[in-house]
Amino acid sequence: MRVLFVEDEDKIAQAVKRGLELKGYAVDTVADADNGLSYAIDPDYDIIILDRMLPGSMDGIEVAKRARAEGQKAPILILTARGSIDDRVEGLNSGADDYLIKPFSFSELVARMQALLRRPPINSGPVLSYENLTLDPAKYEVFRAGKPIKLSSKEFALLEYFMRHSEQVLTKDMIINHVWNEDAIVMPNTVEVYIGYLRSKIDRPFKKLPPLINTVRGFGYKLSRQV
Ligand code: CA
Repeated sequence: MRVLFVEDEDKIAQAVKRGLELKGYAVDTVADADNGLSYAIDPDYDIIILDRMLPGSMDGIEVAKRARAEGQKAPILILTARGSIDDRVEGLNSGADDYLIKPFSFSELVARMQALLRRPPINSGPVLSYENLTLDPAKYEVFRAGKPIKLSSKEFALLEYFMRHSEQVLTKDMIINHVWNEDAIVMPNTVEVYIGYLRSKIDRPFKKLPPLINTVRGFGYKLSRQV
């Protein structure tokens, strides 16, 4: 999942980025409102976290409002120092989906993010499933035909992206944009390499079952029973 975090307090930004990356999220951080907005209109983000008080020509609520006006559909979470009723109403009217009061704990942030990411139309249930494959984003568990599968955080992020978009063709660019952050050095064959890792865990051990990670020649990849 690709995350944008707009926060001017460097300590918080770096700590959250590190924590989220350990959980397999790809995180871009931006420290002011104007750059924040230029990032926040990018449709490749799966979730956007905006600090309310930001340096620049607007606050986080205005960033949310303008990003929505530009067509951003990803969930937006606003961080605010004070949780006054007026702030909440203003923020939720601006197109933000939820609020988190500072100071917050990292686990609380992750719980809120996961709740937002689970909302329809992205996915309606907490556990994602396709055929006999299930993935629990909260517990970091994957099962196929009842058998537990151990994945690295990147493999997990890649599979989660596939499962949230099952039976859709995902191009290499889409995969890179959702699973790796902007600064990541992604070699031309990185996606193939990770697809190979996933197949060796999801498909190859289950010889009697149809392979689920399929190549769509000339286009990309698809999680499906058949190409
Ligand atoms: Ca701030």
